[in-house]
Amino acid sequence: MERVECLLFDLDDTLYPSSLGILSSCAKNIVDFMVQRLAIPADDAPHLCISLYRSHGTTMAGLVSLGYTFDYDEFHEFVHGRLPYDALRPDPALRSLLLSLPQRKLVFTNADRVHAEKALSELGIEDCFERVICFETFNRNGTARVVCKPSLEAFHHAISIAGVDPSKTLFFDDSLRNVEGAKLAGMHAVLVGSHMRGIACIDTVHSLKEALPVLWQEEEKDDSGDELLQNAADETLAVPSEVVPVAAS
Ligand SMILES: [Mg+2]
Repeated sequence: MERVECLLFDLDDTLYPSSLGILSSCAKNIVDFMVQRLAIPADDAPHLCISLYRSHGTTMAGLVSLGYTFDYDEFHEFVHGRLPYDALRPDPALRSLLLSLPQRKLVFTNADRVHAEKALSELGIEDCFERVICFETFNRNGTARVVCKPSLEAFHHAISIAGVDPSKTLFFDDSLRNVEGAKLAGMHAVLVGSHMRGIACIDTVHSLKEALPVLWQEEEKDDSGDELLQNAADETLAVPSEVVPVAAS
């Protein structure tokens, strides 16, 4: 693998664990929005929420593609405004880990800027990244189409905005299909929080130093850790789609 120059991190369920329940709360709020604001029958909304998430990257993108019109800022406020942010606590171990990494570091999330900044701030890592690429980076209120991960278009935008060489970029995400998307866009990618055969995986970003010591050996070429990434480079992309119980916005 070529020397890694840039690290691109998903936010939700990647920089903090899914066990905190932030995204499951988010999914419930999305269903409430669908029922209360879009008049989608309560019996249909949970299933539609998940199926749109699977087919369009986010439930919101799916709703827009179906022709529902709503204010995107209102949607984000409704969905994220009531999240249990108390569950997010400062993570000094993650902070020092991130700060010790010599590469450029950016966040790439499908969430809106308010949520991203709030979550990063609660974790105490908001100043560890040079930029947050988020919903507003690609999308304007009222546009008829939402651009988001895992579409190649979103990854190409992110690569261009970050000004990185994808072959020297390492992407981290808890979503298998986002990991697949990053690989299609030419990046190296690591799945966080679950295991999938043939995909480079880590349990948590906290284990980065043990899993990828090569990241700290910037100048001197060292192959330790390459084995993990070689899986990503060699693996065919024909893996089953992930089963996702909740829908991120
Ligand atoms: Mg995530």
